[in-house]
Amino acid sequence: MLSAETLAYAKSKIRDIPDFPTPGILFKDITPLLAEPRAFHIVLDSLAERFIGEHVDAVVGVEARGFIFGGALAARLNASFVPARKPGKLPAESDRVSYKTEYSTAELEMHKASIKKGGRVLVVDDVLATGGTARAAAELVTRQEGEVVAYAFVIELAFLGGRNVLAPGRVEHVISY
Ligand code: AMP
Repeated sequence: MLSAETLAYAKSKIRDIPDFPTPGILFKDITPLLAEPRAFHIVLDSLAERFIGEHVDAVVGVEARGFIFGGALAARLNASFVPARKPGKLPAESDRVSYKTEYSTAELEMHKASIKKGGRVLVVDDVLATGGTARAAAELVTRQEGEVVAYAFVIELAFLGGRNVLAPGRVEHVISY
């Protein structure tokens, strides 16, 4: 377990940007955290320690910021990394789902046959807001008969209730607002 002081250091590296990308949204900018190796390590350690010893076959990272944390976490957990991407980016045959975010409507795609049947999957993104994005990624996983064992986020915007959208799934976060 990381100390409260250590986690507070990581939290201090998250920058609030008001009214981005649209008026009324307080954007949680993780680029200052990425710029500090110690803060990046803290986040990865905190997430990895919850899953080491549990069998994870694949980490699904959501484009784009979920790639940064999901890729690093997959390497630490000795799991595959599978990207969930915005439409038209994946080269091979893909599945697509539509969903709502805090500030837009969007679609996600995943390569077909990228998750093995019964595979244990972790869905990773930087921020849990309303939960629509993570739920869409999970739907792509379950369509391939993978099992979403947990959702892992760097930041949970708890006041938006995204966790309820993912229920009864297990939701882990490093930093909460
Ligand atoms: P949602 O589907 O509402 O849970 O939104 C989650 C997705 O939108 C994640 O990929 C986040 O990167 C992004 N997102 C939503 N709200 C914010 C926010 N306030 N700050 C930063 N990213 C956000």
